[in-house]
Amino acid sequence: MKRKIKLIQAAVGVEADGIIGPRTVDALLAALKLEVAPQWPTQAAVRTGKSIFGLPGREDALVSIVPPYPLLYEGKPVRSIRVHRAIAPHVQAALQEVLDHYGQAEIHRLGLDQYGGSYNLRPTSSGGSLSMHAWGIALDFAPATNALRTKAPAATLSHSDCDAWWRIWEAHGAVSLGRQRDFDWMHLQFARL
Ligand SMILES: [Zn+2]
Repeated sequence: MKRKIKLIQAAVGVEADGIIGPRTVDALLAALKLEVAPQWPTQAAVRTGKSIFGLPGREDALVSIVPPYPLLYEGKPVRSIRVHRAIAPHVQAALQEVLDHYGQAEIHRLGLDQYGGSYNLRPTSSGGSLSMHAWGIALDFAPATNALRTKAPAATLSHSDCDAWWRIWEAHGAVSLGRQRDFDWMHLQFARL
């Protein structure tokens, strides 16, 4: 078995140590042209401050992204959005995929251009612990029609025409509180529940 693994490792260009670790898995998936959603840390792990996202409130860990389609914050155009550098390529790619899938007119009709913010050093709405926004790993969209306590089907982001929106984010490992818990439909985060 170990010999077989070493042969496979040699074939996909990783060190042939006979152990199937994360590098071998990544190389195999790439060779097979398979994409799997990244596994982000859990919320609890993020709150320890010891995850890949580090401590909350670290503005030096944030980078600015220029969105591929126009976003509006409270009706005003948004030049760039600030998120944690570890998720930035995923946010950039997901927004591009949203544009490719829906086009600008449909994006506007669904409110996917209504941005509700990302980085914000604050507790959760229940007040107990820090929000994932405090690490810059959560984003809000279409807040006017997807308030904290608005449930499906009143929450517009719960409608079937937004399924692709969520599939795109989920393929990048992001989690929707709406899809998982039926509240705060505006919110998506790069941390598991
Ligand atoms: Zn949020």
